Amino acid sequence: MSKINIDINEINAIGLAYGELALKGKNRGIFESTIKNSILSRLKKLDFETNLENDMSKLYINFEKGRAKKVLEAIKNVFGINNISFCVKVETDDKIIEDRVLEIANMLYEKGSRTFKIETNRSDKRFIYNSMEYSKKIGASVLINTEFKDVSMKNMDSLISIDIRRNTYIYTEKVKAYGGLPLGSAGKGLSMLSGGIDSPVASFLMAKRGMKLSYVTFHSFPFTSKNSLVKIQQLVEILTRYNSKSIFYNFNILKMQQAIKKYTNNEYATILNRRVMVKLANRLANEKNLQALITGESLGQVASQTLGGLTCTNDASKIPVFRPLIGMDKLEIIEIANEIGTYKKSIEPHEDSCSLFAPKHPNTNPKLEDVLVEEAKIENYNEIMEEIYSNMEYMILTEE
Ligand code: ATP
Ligand code: MG
Repeated sequence: MSKINIDINEINAIGLAYGELALKGKNRGIFESTIKNSILSRLKKLDFETNLENDMSKLYINFEKGRAKKVLEAIKNVFGINNISFCVKVETDDKIIEDRVLEIANMLYEKGSRTFKIETNRSDKRFIYNSMEYSKKIGASVLINTEFKDVSMKNMDSLISIDIRRNTYIYTEKVKAYGGLPLGSAGKGLSMLSGGIDSPVASFLMAKRGMKLSYVTFHSFPFTSKNSLVKIQQLVEILTRYNSKSIFYNFNILKMQQAIKKYTNNEYATILNRRVMVKLANRLANEKNLQALITGESLGQVASQTLGGLTCTNDASKIPVFRPLIGMDKLEIIEIANEIGTYKKSIEPHEDSCSLFAPKHPNTNPKLEDVLVEEAKIENYNEIMEEIYSNMEYMILTEE
């Protein structure tokens, strides 16, 4: 890795390396076109010309100098890209490449770089020198024609890579992107969002694996305020940066929470509530062709997330429930929340529809058979469910 890099204003192409995509054999074509479409739709929103080009199996975005930062901002959230290189693109011509490398070397020297290494990758085998020969030749030229006095094989100030394809790309800097799989390549899911820290992170992780998400929340208006709903909507807006367009559904489950309070043993209230949410989410998923539920549960975090609690919630779902945070510590979750930009919003205070009716002494290891007995005590259960479902609301959010 270089410590001293080519100035961002010299960059006129960005190279995109796929990660796992390359391993997917027959699916590669479909994945590639999904990823290209996401990139293109983001580039289209820029107020200047760019062009996306496949140069011998690697994708490059071409643009005029001085635009690199904006291009990076536009595409860095696209899943399926593993790393991004900042390139100076030139014609594949021995003389042109050498001259440009010398110019770049001079600029690097001026920025304080004192040791360098040249590394060549030759994808276009028509080029007359092989990689080793070419690195040596250009390295020697830099030593002769610039102030540089030292080549260094390790810990160099600047590693100058020359990637020879139909065109040639000279770069010193590569940054990591999210990786993952292109959005939509792994089906569609319904993410259950509560407004806390965990569920947005869980959503991000599933989207990163290629799942296109819709979102649902359950509230207890007027016991919970409209503001709580606005806060969750804002979280969906942040997540939409990774998900391009999202449908956000909400249900008012107050009536059922009151029935639970009235008819059942209070120590089961949280689990019974959670089962209500999961059942409504199942019905919605079924109707909208969404194939899995996503939650922010993490084993043992709170009373309802013990193995006993999770068994009882799981039982209420016919479709798979994905819990990408199940084995994570709170601190690891917070780190991701910070990185994806949801943390600050998540920690703003809001009334949680669950904690409103939360028992003082929840059963921390409920047994399914006991929970079902309690659930059966609720009068008009199906009618209330029907009423809640028919009052579902939704909004459609797109990336700004
Ligand atoms: P979070 O940080 O996401 O709020 P949490 O640690 O507060 O999670 P719980 O309140 O036990 O945990 O909720 C566990 C999961 O159940 C949440 O991550 C979310 O996926 C789902 N969930 C809980 N309450 C709601 C709600 N009101 N609406 C939608 N989903 C919910
Ligand atoms: Mg919560």
